[in-house]
Amino acid sequence: MSLTLNSDLLEKIKESGAKTVALQFPEGLKRKAFLFSEQLKKEGYRVFISGNPCWGACDLDLEILGRADILVHFGHAPVGDFDRVIYEPYFQKIEIRTLEKVLPHLSSGNISIVTTVQHAPQTDEIIEFFRSKGYSCTTGKTSERTPYRGQVLGCTYSAAKNTGADEILYIGTGVFHAIGVKLATGIKVTAFDPVTGEIQVIDESKMLRIRFAKIEKARSAEKTAILVSTKSGQIREELAERLLSLSKKADIVYIKEITPDALLNLGYEAYVNTACPRLAYDDNVRFPAPLLSPEEYEILLGVREWEDYEIDEIVR
Ligand code: SF4
Repeated sequence: MSLTLNSDLLEKIKESGAKTVALQFPEGLKRKAFLFSEQLKKEGYRVFISGNPCWGACDLDLEILGRADILVHFGHAPVGDFDRVIYEPYFQKIEIRTLEKVLPHLSSGNISIVTTVQHAPQTDEIIEFFRSKGYSCTTGKTSERTPYRGQVLGCTYSAAKNTGADEILYIGTGVFHAIGVKLATGIKVTAFDPVTGEIQVIDESKMLRIRFAKIEKARSAEKTAILVSTKSGQIREELAERLLSLSKKADIVYIKEITPDALLNLGYEAYVNTACPRLAYDDNVRFPAPLLSPEEYEILLGVREWEDYEIDEIVR
C-alpha cells in the first residue's frame, strides 16, 4: 500500500467532521506534506503541517492538534490511544518468494517471526509460507504499542516473546530491532532484510561490551540526570521517580528532544534515559556523556546484577 490520500483516509477525515486538519509526517516522508495539503485543500479543508522532528507515533504533535480539529499522523501504527488522531501507517509489500533464501539459515523446524510495521500486514502470509515448507511457525501477542500481528518496535518486543519457538526470524531493515529481539528473548535470531536480501545471525556481544563500558564510565559521575521526555508516548514519570529514589546524586530533568547539544548544555556527567530506548543504544556515540538505560543504571547502583541485563522496553 503506498502513502496517498486514498479514499479510505479521505472517508475517515470526512467522518470526523473536521474542518481544520493537521498533518504530521516522519522525517523521511515530510516532503510529501505539500502533496497532501494540496489535495485536502481542494476538498475544502484548512490544513496545517507539523514541521517538528518526528520519529514515531510516540511523538504526536499535540500542540498543532490544539489548533486543528484532527491530526493525521502518517508513517506509523498507533502507540497508545489518543482522541482526534487518525493514523496512516506506511506499508511496504515484500515478495514472499524471497523468503526461500532464508530457509538454509534456519536451524530449527520450530520458528516464530517478527517484523516492523511496514511489513506487518503480511505476517499471516509469511507464517503460511513457512508452514507450507513444513515449519512450525507462529508469532507472539500484539500489545497497545504494537497493534499489528508480528509487529515489533525498538521499544516493545511483545510479538517476540513466549511463543514456544526455538528461534526467531526478524524481517526488516537494519539490525537494531533484531538485537532487541535477541536480548528480549535470549534465543537465536536471524535477520532478513527484504530490501537488500542480506541475512545474518544476530550477535549481541559487541553491543553488550559497549553497554558494559558505558556503565563503568558512568560510575565516576558525581551528578546524574534522569531524563524524562514530554513526548506523548515516551513519558515514564513513575519509572523516573523510582530511579531517583535509588540515589542522592541524581536529578530528574524534563526534556522533549534529547540531543547531544541539549545534554552538553545541561552539563551532567552521566544521564539515564527513560525516553525512547533507541537513544541510549543506537545513538550512544553522539552523546557527550554516558547515556544509560534504566536497567543499566540499576546495575551501576548495585540493585541489579549484570547477569540480569535486560533490554529497555516501554510497557503500557
Ligand atoms: Fe519508535 Fe522510540 Fe517511539 Fe518506540 S519510543 S515508537 S522505538 S521512536
